[in-house]
Amino acid sequence: MALQAAIISIGDELILGQTVDTNSAWLSEQLAQIGIGVSQHITLADSQSDIAEHLSRLAKTVDVIIATGGLGPTDDDLTRHALAEVLGTELELHQMTLDKMTDMFARFKRPMAQRNRIQAMIPKGCAVIDNPIGTACGMMVEIGAAHAFFLPGVPSEMRMLCTETVFPLVTKLAEKTRDKQVIVSRTLCCFGQGESTVAEMLGDMMTRHRNPVVNSTVARGIISLRINATAADRETAQKMIAPVEAELRQRLGDIVFGSDDDTLASVVVKRLMERRATLATAESCTGGMLAGALTDIPGVSSAFLGGWITYSNDAKISMLRVDSELIDSDGAVSESVARQLAQKAREYAQSDYALSITGIAGPSGGTAEKPIGLVFIGLADGSGTLVSQNILHGDRKMIRTRAVNTALDMLRRRIS
Ligand code: AMP
Ligand code: MG
Repeated sequence: MALQAAIISIGDELILGQTVDTNSAWLSEQLAQIGIGVSQHITLADSQSDIAEHLSRLAKTVDVIIATGGLGPTDDDLTRHALAEVLGTELELHQMTLDKMTDMFARFKRPMAQRNRIQAMIPKGCAVIDNPIGTACGMMVEIGAAHAFFLPGVPSEMRMLCTETVFPLVTKLAEKTRDKQVIVSRTLCCFGQGESTVAEMLGDMMTRHRNPVVNSTVARGIISLRINATAADRETAQKMIAPVEAELRQRLGDIVFGSDDDTLASVVVKRLMERRATLATAESCTGGMLAGALTDIPGVSSAFLGGWITYSNDAKISMLRVDSELIDSDGAVSESVARQLAQKAREYAQSDYALSITGIAGPSGGTAEKPIGLVFIGLADGSGTLVSQNILHGDRKMIRTRAVNTALDMLRRRIS
């Protein structure tokens, strides 16, 4: 049996739904790669008795416990008190941690509140996990046979303490157990077909109980195919993934646009940069979302020159000199206006490519002839202008996001 872990997320804000628990998801993913199976995610309020109760219970059933949150300086941060209760000990001052905190406040020229002292109070018998980027240090201790780790809730701090201290330690623990299993994942990102069509193209490749197993999820038209390989070590798992990935790519062809953390925007920007080509945008119904997606990518300035948000008819006419007669005769959401928007954006920005988007995002404004979701996307380059007519599904937000993805995908295919 591989090592089993439980993850406890602590905080009223998590229970109330004000903060989404991203820590557990990240921890599960990381632990799987080390070869530790996560059997439970538990979310608790800032309640000393609840935390103590679950800690005592889990210590008897799992090998590793990782708890995040509740280590702040305020009265609602009770994780350290709960841990002391479970261990049957008291909190004692950890002088080195207090000194570090005092230094940190001095460096930022801020007075240290008296209540921050609690963050240097550690249950007797616990080791301190140093936190170089925050005031809340982590703690670790054995509760019975279970190795328990307590980390600050702030995701960046939690991740750093894990990478620096917790993961190296639990990796050693995992290596000691025989029958170790690691799960290595690779994601293929697809766009341009529905999830069920993709499933059909894959046929028996998605059958359960295979190893590697292929899972599919879809968000905003982007299908993520996760290849999960389980093996005794990373290298073996990676070797198992390679032929499955090759087969998937072969079956799916150009609907695969990238892997792992790639986005349509990052892939398009990379291709533009490789070609030293430039892009401009003219957006109506997406109001700058396309430009926003492009400028999310660091270093994009050499490829993305700029864009126009021509939301009203007047803006289309005054900013990009779209023919007003064309808007009168065909309407702002039309093939001809999308074509002109792309051509003019390319001309005025003097770019190699230009994308335009004009459509009806709803919830009102649809007609029988031009329904909600009708979106024209123009792509101009040196060889001419292509316009696609799309009917996109979903609410306003979804239609706008899909329009951006569809535009990026059009350009991706053009420059492939
Ligand atoms: P704490 O360590 O409880 O003081 O948490 C500090 C901050 O980290 C909270 O205000 C939350 O914004 C964030 N946080 C705590 N737990 C989580 C979690 N499980 N997932 C994401 N963010 C969290
Ligand atoms: Mg908290």
